Amino acid sequence: MKKLSLLGSTGSIGTQTLDVVRKNQDIQVVALAAGTRVVELAQQVREFKPQLVCIGKEELVSELKTLIGDLDVKIVCGDEGLTEAATIESADIVLTAVVGMMGIVPTIEAMKAHKDIALANKETLVTAGHIIMRLAKEYGVHIYPVDSEHSAIFQSLNGENPKEINKILLTASGGPFRGKTRKDLEHVSLKDALNHPNWSMGKKITIDSSTMVNKGLEVMEAQWLFNVPATQVQVVIQPQSIIHSMVEFIDGGIMAQLGSPDMRLPIQYALYYPERRFLDSERVDFFKLKQITFEEPDFETFKGLKLAYDAAANGGNIPTALNAANEYAVSRFLDEKIKYLDIADMIEYAMNEVKYIDNPTVEEILDTEASVYEMLKRKW
Ligand code: MG
Repeated sequence: MKKLSLLGSTGSIGTQTLDVVRKNQDIQVVALAAGTRVVELAQQVREFKPQLVCIGKEELVSELKTLIGDLDVKIVCGDEGLTEAATIESADIVLTAVVGMMGIVPTIEAMKAHKDIALANKETLVTAGHIIMRLAKEYGVHIYPVDSEHSAIFQSLNGENPKEINKILLTASGGPFRGKTRKDLEHVSLKDALNHPNWSMGKKITIDSSTMVNKGLEVMEAQWLFNVPATQVQVVIQPQSIIHSMVEFIDGGIMAQLGSPDMRLPIQYALYYPERRFLDSERVDFFKLKQITFEEPDFETFKGLKLAYDAAANGGNIPTALNAANEYAVSRFLDEKIKYLDIADMIEYAMNEVKYIDNPTVEEILDTEASVYEMLKRKW
């Protein structure tokens, strides 16, 4: 029986992962980690009976204890607890679905403990891709992408020679503001930005999808996962979210993965690769769908996407600056403290102002994050 440690269990990816586990009945959950949703976490512990459970904040430990005190489970907390969950002896695979740069250290430690990684945390590869890919080789661990686009690329590459890739076609729905101009977006409200047309996701990624920074992060992830430069990763707007991404090979042939937008498919594929399992998903009916359309991305309105290509070209700690600035800006926008268009301006400011570090260590990556937060707090 495969043994899973799940980091970020109460979020959107986490709960869908547990849905996959529940339906298949042949994966044992050995560790669960969540941020602040104690009640949901306690219910998950009761249902899946892990050996270890981690809650993000120390002050929530006592509440968790009262909820599951009758169960035989070790309770840990905070960053250290998260790493303990990621490296738990009994796990074969760690699915990391925590949001933000807090995912980096536990992922690295899990790899060093020879765990395979099902990766849903984008920040890990965006900021530390050079370290993660080297470690994967060194420790002989697999990284299975959970993000729908990267899963689609991974599926399209099945049985292919990666040296024969010509380019990656990374599809994007375009989000709720597709077709808008910068002027149209000046007074966007939080509610408008949280209203994604196709995918139901967590708040941070929903905002990132609306700004297309999410797609920018995915471009950077793709370059690490599939070893192609960002210049060979082309973003294609495909508003129906049926094509989840494509690979064009040197002979001009294109492989694509299609399906209805349902995150459980890439989650299940990552957990069972190379096996496919039944999934009670909505099936694509081409006669109902009638057409799949394509558009070019608008780099002017969605400046964050353009900045992501710049960050990829600059390398070093610049992707970290982009990511940290975006995390800070989105949290400020979610608190309704800044305007929508400030998000991209803050990213641009941080990328220009941060001190450049080539080939950064994990410590330098985390320092860059802290200094970006500091510089933005002074201005916004
Ligand atoms: Mg995605």
